[in-house]
Amino acid sequence: MTCKEFASSITGYLENALPPRQRADFDDHRAGCTNCQTYLEQMNQLIRAAPALRQEPDEIRVPPRLYDLLAEKRRRASIQRQSRRRAYQPFVIAGIAIVILAGLWLYRTHKFPKPGPVAVTIDLTQRVRTRGFGQSPQPPIELPRAKLNLTVEMPIGALPGKYEVGVAPEHGSPSVTAAGTAALINQVTTLRVMLDLTKLRRGSYRLAVRPVSWDWVYYPLRIK
Ligand SMILES: [Zn+2]
Repeated sequence: MTCKEFASSITGYLENALPPRQRADFDDHRAGCTNCQTYLEQMNQLIRAAPALRQEPDEIRVPPRLYDLLAEKRRRASIQRQSRRRAYQPFVIAGIAIVILAGLWLYRTHKFPKPGPVAVTIDLTQRVRTRGFGQSPQPPIELPRAKLNLTVEMPIGALPGKYEVGVAPEHGSPSVTAAGTAALINQVTTLRVMLDLTKLRRGSYRLAVRPVSWDWVYYPLRIK
């Protein structure tokens, strides 16, 4: 029997399944070959250990546990990745907010400075006030839709004193009013008031003027 034949007969030998002739040859080879003796001994150890493995549930459960461990590790790695992403989120949001705020700041302070009141003078000295709602012989006074630093040159004959100025719809009483004291400047009774027209829509209105506690006098007005 060769070493190779010995090796291939080991299983049968250990299971007591070798024919007598083969078993005799096996024993002969074993007696004379230390390599095969060692090999047989290792196989015996393996077989002795095998039932122990089968009987130790903990040992058998190693692979599933290993799976669990690996799965857990993978899960933790993914959570870490997510939390890292989540950790960046506030910085990203803060970054966007800074860009927006910087843009707003630039918009308000640099590119488009907030416009101050617009200085406008209305000359009523030559104006004909409206009577009723018919066609006026003169084109309407035009005012920009803005905060106005308004100078009103009062009609001839108007006395210096306290006046109110307002903007009225075509039918109705003034919705925007301002009060001031008219003074005589270069022989013209002149009233200076601040009037905010930014809340009004563009269109046709009436400019209303009156000495305080008198009736309104109206002039056709157009807000551009
Ligand atoms: Zn041998």
